[in-house]
Amino acid sequence: VAASPRPHVVLVASPGAGHLIPMAELARRLVTHHGLAATLVTFTDQSAPNANSTVLSSPSVSQVSTVALPAVPLDDLPADDPIETMLWELIGRSIPHLRALLRDISSAAPLAALVPDFFGSTVLPLAAELGVPAYIFFPSNLTGVAVMRSAVELNDGVASGEYRDLPDVLRLPGSVLLHRKDYADGFQNSKEPTYARLIEAGRRYRAADGFLVNTFDEMEPGNPEEIKQAVEQSTFPPVYPVEPLIRPSSDEDGASACLDWLDRQPKGSVVYVSFGSAGALSVERTAELAAGLEDSGHRFLWVVRLPSQDGINFAMFTGHRSDKDDPLAWLPEGFVERTSGRGLAVAAWAPQVRVLSHPATAAFVSHCGWNSTLESVASGVPMVAWPLYAEQRMNVALLSENVGVAQRPRATRADGLIAREAIAAAVREVMGGEEKGRAVRLRAGELQQVAARACTPGGSSWQMLEEVAGKCKAVALGRLKHRRL
Ligand code: UDP
Repeated sequence: VAASPRPHVVLVASPGAGHLIPMAELARRLVTHHGLAATLVTFTDQSAPNANSTVLSSPSVSQVSTVALPAVPLDDLPADDPIETMLWELIGRSIPHLRALLRDISSAAPLAALVPDFFGSTVLPLAAELGVPAYIFFPSNLTGVAVMRSAVELNDGVASGEYRDLPDVLRLPGSVLLHRKDYADGFQNSKEPTYARLIEAGRRYRAADGFLVNTFDEMEPGNPEEIKQAVEQSTFPPVYPVEPLIRPSSDEDGASACLDWLDRQPKGSVVYVSFGSAGALSVERTAELAAGLEDSGHRFLWVVRLPSQDGINFAMFTGHRSDKDDPLAWLPEGFVERTSGRGLAVAAWAPQVRVLSHPATAAFVSHCGWNSTLESVASGVPMVAWPLYAEQRMNVALLSENVGVAQRPRATRADGLIAREAIAAAVREVMGGEEKGRAVRLRAGELQQVAARACTPGGSSWQMLEEVAGKCKAVALGRLKHRRL
């Protein structure tokens, strides 16, 4: 008798390395640890057809089926639309392709669940059509879910066009206060179209069976149990912290000039500087950062991007890597020569998990995107926080004021620009300071241990996924039996 096919989970990853990388790891864990089969669905961008190839061809993803949905036209969208609009439109317009794919998969194996990420709320009705559970993958933290829930409930019964702003200070469960300046970009102003889209997405989340959140309790402020309970007692589905979904370092190319250079540096001597998959600095900020690194006197490895005014390089985000423009040409004159021997600047990209886990790396100047944060914590590396866009300011508020694993440089200038002196001071503090610096270094070491425990069999994250996988399998097998009767 042929063995029945495993119950099958379909995960839908919106564009962006920060979404795809943790979802690929989630898919891998569901297959290797929890007895499910998985298909990871991505989208096709005709102008960057290889955008996802490095992640999807990684050894750890080999047990997961991967499908890229056909491209859909987006050229009618205004060029100055925010990136979120592009993601929501892309997913919404791809639903007929996704429906056809789900029908194909379900004819060959019992469907166990549909798991879109937080940009994919419009695919949730497909789960209802097919009678399968749906979980939203939230690549950020519980606090992010709690803010979303507050905004949605604040606007219950309110029509689009009249949405209410979040208060200037939001009191979250567990007595955590979040200030307006720390809200994600999209929650800053209820008059902006992105705010309306977020509320609509949040309303649709209510149809899901739960949130899979890439976090663990010690990464949250206050009492995370209170956040979880508050979400459960609300109109939102329950949350399952399944952290830290980090790609194995063996997935990254080990042959790299960065790693060769790190091999030649003393243990615990290097500051790694990088701003995620798409973060970019203005020319002025690039110059201040360069000067700050130079003044700090420490060794550094800096992933340099072409300058951008608004903090995000759209082309990098969507996977367009061009070798035409050299970001290093934008560094201040003489900087590379003056710091040669103790600093390395590389263009565009580094194998980050390998860099962070290298014994020479001691600190991370980071935009505090959530994946970068978890990767840093998993390697026991404290951070200097430099938020740029999306929900990064919220992350920094948690990491510096609550979790205690990051140091904010002090913005001393009226225009908010962080001056070279503040950068140098923050780097020196995290590398060797006896007070705050010592505290963030110790905290990073503690969190590294907690993160490692959570993912081992029987650990909190492992158990959460086992619970969710069990529910999905029960539904799939129940349906299979019903079909056979
Ligand atoms: N990343 C990398 N090399 C780089 C820059 C980024 O491997 O030079 C990876 C990083 O390890 C992380 C992801 O890209 O897994 C970025 O995700 P994050 O949430 O930190 O930031 P986002 O790009 O979403 O702003």
